[in-house]
Amino acid sequence: MSDEPAARIAEFIEPLRVAPGTRVDLGRDFDPGYRAGLRKREAEELLRTGVALLAEYQQRLAAQDTYGVLLCLQALDAGGKDGTIRHVMSGVNPQGVRVSSFKVPSDEELAHDYLWRYTRRLPERGEIAIFNRSHYEEVLVVRVHPENLVRQKLPGEARGPDVWERRYREINEWERHLTDSGFKVVKIFLNLSKEEQRTRFLKRIDLPEKNWKFSAADVRERRHWDEYQRAFSAMLSATSTAWAPWYVVPADRKWFARICTAAVLAHTLMDIDPRYPEVSEEARRDLLAARRELEREAPSGAPADPYAARHVRARDGRGAGPEPPDGGGHGGPAEGGKHGRPRRHGKRRGRG
Ligand code: ATP
Ligand code: MG
Repeated sequence: MSDEPAARIAEFIEPLRVAPGTRVDLGRDFDPGYRAGLRKREAEELLRTGVALLAEYQQRLAAQDTYGVLLCLQALDAGGKDGTIRHVMSGVNPQGVRVSSFKVPSDEELAHDYLWRYTRRLPERGEIAIFNRSHYEEVLVVRVHPENLVRQKLPGEARGPDVWERRYREINEWERHLTDSGFKVVKIFLNLSKEEQRTRFLKRIDLPEKNWKFSAADVRERRHWDEYQRAFSAMLSATSTAWAPWYVVPADRKWFARICTAAVLAHTLMDIDPRYPEVSEEARRDLLAARRELEREAPSGAPADPYAARHVRARDGRGAGPEPPDGGGHGGPAEGGKHGRPRRHGKRRGRG
């Protein structure tokens, strides 16, 4: 991959990034209707490119076992989290991605420290974990509705007046620890305008097939709009760090929000630049021995290696085998063998 798309993506997302240390006032600093001069028609092509790029990089990420990615998505109701996940991740191998949605905490969750439930859903190396809502709810909804803090059964000193500053620090340190351990933390806030939220709510009420998406609680939360704007502004100011910056994605146009999210995620993966594992001399010898054995089994009249006969011969004669013309499809690196190293199927658990 040449550096050119990487540079273009970096330039495209730069206006969305909250520079660490800046004091954010959402209403003043970020326009939910911004679209970088793009039109919807151009956007479709761009999203296709982005989705293909993500598919390629995710395949490479899954083939290595040093890095993982955590994507945190925050938004107000009707901000478009679900649709963004669906579109942006449409090209990637579901085996390498796990999505977790965080709702009102259960009794079991409240019986632990506030980061516990998020820790349990972190990615493995090689994976992308997506948090649909995240640990940031702990300084957003919990701040706007302090009764949530009461339910958390904290000792007195952990719920004093400095509780939010304390949590910002704890969250920053937690993310720093994750980053230092090989897990990139990507944080996206889908920034919706109050008027666009009103329109989307009404659409959910007007269209019977959308009714299930609407809850009366959504309108009750909307009454706290200004408090949420303040809580988001304070949170963005305090937790956009050099190791895990926030991106404020304009969300009034769903198509633009999707391109931005794909671009931020692609930027992260390109930065990691995951590589397929090198095949050791020993593994290569095993591959060649296996090939000889399989070639000896060829029925009379059949080519010794039908694949090589049909496609290009392995270019460098190292026996690693050429890429199938379809790029290997979704089987990808998880199929094993191709790179001479067993993949980690055996150790993977089921996904919830
Ligand atoms: P959708 O409405 O699209 O299904 P959603 O993420 O809004 O998705 P809901 O079940 O509607 O899901 O809402 C989840 C609720 O849980 C939100 O109101 C959110 O603020 C709340 N919530 C999440 N985390 C916490 C938390 N730590 N403490 C209290 N409330 C929380
Ligand atoms: Mg909801």
